[in-house]
Amino acid sequence: MSFFDKVKQGASEAARKAQQTVEITKHKTHISLKEREIDKIYKLIGESVYTSYLSGDYSQVEANVKDYCQGIAQINQEISEIEVKITEVRNEKECVCGKVVVADTKFCSSCGHHFV
Ligand SMILES: [Zn+2]
Repeated sequence: MSFFDKVKQGASEAARKAQQTVEITKHKTHISLKEREIDKIYKLIGESVYTSYLSGDYSQVEANVKDYCQGIAQINQEISEIEVKITEVRNEKECVCGKVVVADTKFCSSCGHHFV
């Protein structure tokens, strides 16, 4: 490979890395926003319980809290999906045991899991 080819390759590798960083930052910002949504729902749960305490009427609170909790579960699911995207951008994948490995790994170095 000529000197200029090497320089070109180095530059495109740097550009790819920079693009990767931009994408990961975007995904992480997205996760932060979703975590803030969850915090808001936690607050609503607290308010809902306290309002029931004040009125002495707890008949609605169970249904309300269940709805809020389902909302949180939904957002947590979305966060997991974004985390998968981050590992994909990094050219990594997560094993069933939780270890993060390079995408083309065939066997997990931690648990020996065979990727298909
Ligand atoms: Zn494993």
